[in-house]
Amino acid sequence: MALIAILPGDGIGPEVTAQARRVLEALDLGLSFEEAPVGGAAYHAMGHPLPETTLDLAKRADAILFGAVGDPTCDALERQFRPEQAILGLRKALGFWANLRPATMMPGMEDASTLRPEIAAKIDMVIVRELVGDVYFGEKGRRQTEDGRRQGYDVMSYAEDEVRRIAVVGFEMARRRRKSLISVDKANVLETSQLWRDVVNEVAADYDDVALQHMYVDNAAMQMVRNPGQFDVVITGNLFGDILSDQASMCVGSIGMLPSASLRDWSGDNGLYEPIHGSAPDIAGQGKANPCAAILSAAMLLRHSLDNEAAAQRIEAAVAKALSGGIRTPDMGGSHTTSQMGDAVLAAL
Ligand code: NAD
Repeated sequence: MALIAILPGDGIGPEVTAQARRVLEALDLGLSFEEAPVGGAAYHAMGHPLPETTLDLAKRADAILFGAVGDPTCDALERQFRPEQAILGLRKALGFWANLRPATMMPGMEDASTLRPEIAAKIDMVIVRELVGDVYFGEKGRRQTEDGRRQGYDVMSYAEDEVRRIAVVGFEMARRRRKSLISVDKANVLETSQLWRDVVNEVAADYDDVALQHMYVDNAAMQMVRNPGQFDVVITGNLFGDILSDQASMCVGSIGMLPSASLRDWSGDNGLYEPIHGSAPDIAGQGKANPCAAILSAAMLLRHSLDNEAAAQRIEAAVAKALSGGIRTPDMGGSHTTSQMGDAVLAAL
């Protein structure tokens, strides 16, 4: 029996994960659930945002469904006790190096996009971002030039194995989707990107059935708003992925619609699934939170960690059906509550 760790966290985290749990339970897959506090809730109850017992549960579980952390009453705490340290601690302790962010336009939601509806309607992509390398983790510092000017520096680097494993995730995912992979780099200028491109080409030899295209990051940013429908699976490094994944998510409309997965291997063993949004203290406790991102995160959990594609698709179809039936929380211009949105998804299942 697969064990799912539920870490609801703060603000709207508990409200949206409760709806996601209802959906998982309704599928009757024989899953078992254990909940533990994390973030500000854990700090207030146990004195630490990521208590040992919560970390133990996360390690034991087959997959983790995470809500959100962030609590304004903790803003004055020393950094190590701030709620946000919990998600960073989990990523580090469990070694998540691949971050998957699907961005899909749900039918009837086109008007919520900042793009023209006929262009937004075609969005159906997954960005696979490398999470533990690149310029964010290279040598960095401040120094003085010979002529006395202050200089800051951050070293960009990737080792071939780091590129290979993310490329494999991208190709495997493309194989299960529309068989198209776009690798984003800046190989015309950066040596790190040239190595990235060489290694991706080597991995491509094992995936004849997937069409590979390389794209420079500046062009990719432009193409993503010009014609987002051309993207199926995208792989990219940490820096470029950070920027492009936010851009892609905005094209879809509400932040309350977007799920994500953090993985440490392609099998999805022990992955962490969470909405991309935070704890939204401005609407917490008011029944206004959109639970779709959390519910769609549960679908990703079934797909990647429990290898249950059919159940994942059932959830995604149920969310689409609930939305096309006109159920909308306030972020999508409606007046339905969090639990009414959950009810509608359950009814559509
Ligand atoms: P946020 O994502 O919490 O909220 C941004 C805006 O979007 C707010 O107006 C909010 O009401 C709205 N919003 C977010 N999710 C929504 C949903 N499901 N339904 C309807 N509206 C939604 O970002 P923020 O305000 O910058 O941060 C609030 C707290 O969350 C901070 O403490 C921040 O550090 C934390 N945070 C945590 C995570 C995480 O847990 N992974 C991610 C981002 C931010």
